[in-house]
Amino acid sequence: MKRAALFRVSLLVMLLIIVTSGISAQEKDDLVQSALEDTTFNWASSESRGVRIYCQRGSFAEKHRSMLLRSVTTAVDEVLEYLGESRYDKPLNVLYLESREEMERIVGQPVSGFANWGASGVFVVFNPEWRSFEKHEITHVFTMGGWGAPDTTSRWMVEGIAIHSDGWCREYTVDEIAYHLLSQGQLPSLQEFFDDSTALGEIRGGFYGASVIGFIRHTHGAEALHDLWLNGIGDFKEMFGSDVKEIENLWKNYLKLKVKKEIKVDLETIEDLGCG
Ligand SMILES: [Zn+2]
Repeated sequence: MKRAALFRVSLLVMLLIIVTSGISAQEKDDLVQSALEDTTFNWASSESRGVRIYCQRGSFAEKHRSMLLRSVTTAVDEVLEYLGESRYDKPLNVLYLESREEMERIVGQPVSGFANWGASGVFVVFNPEWRSFEKHEITHVFTMGGWGAPDTTSRWMVEGIAIHSDGWCREYTVDEIAYHLLSQGQLPSLQEFFDDSTALGEIRGGFYGASVIGFIRHTHGAEALHDLWLNGIGDFKEMFGSDVKEIENLWKNYLKLKVKKEIKVDLETIEDLGCG
């Protein structure tokens, strides 16, 4: 199986684990502790403002350690602001790995990023060919670890909020990808998406949810995301003053006005190689 295909399958499996088991597996295991105790890794660490990063000695990440520490502390501030929170109570651990093979050894899946929110830990692959997705994974820790598991009807938000918080996939914004999918007729109604958010697959479902989340945050603020996360979509009309169909139409109009039509999204590359 091609690496990209394997990556897609493993992401899907992870999503299915999240959807079916209520995310408990990642809460119970302290993968940070086991990674730090694994003597095949030679860790060097740096700390600033409640964030500790770990790089392997001699690695590409270690060469950029000061820059990475600065960028992680900035990412923490940005994610907190994005979520409308002032602080996260636990210290955050960010472990840099050189490859998906190393990731598989630690977390059991060859993914490029992984959030172990129970241990306040983030694992990211970072090498000259792959940018790391700290903001995406930190968002998972702060939502799942800080807000708790979402209402069952808001599970579509788990990936969407992390994708939107990060904001980019290759050179495209979240809204550019969502608009591309919309204009190609690749997205079902919002209600159908809410009814079965996994049916669309991780890319279409992820960017659909992310763009809608961005629209709700833009129109109703970060607190509305927190409410939707905890309360589910049952009180949609009371929360937003519009029902699901009306929000869908408002979101479509917003996208049409916002996204430059000349941008051509190369979805095939995203599907083959991911967002890095
Ligand atoms: Zn994610």
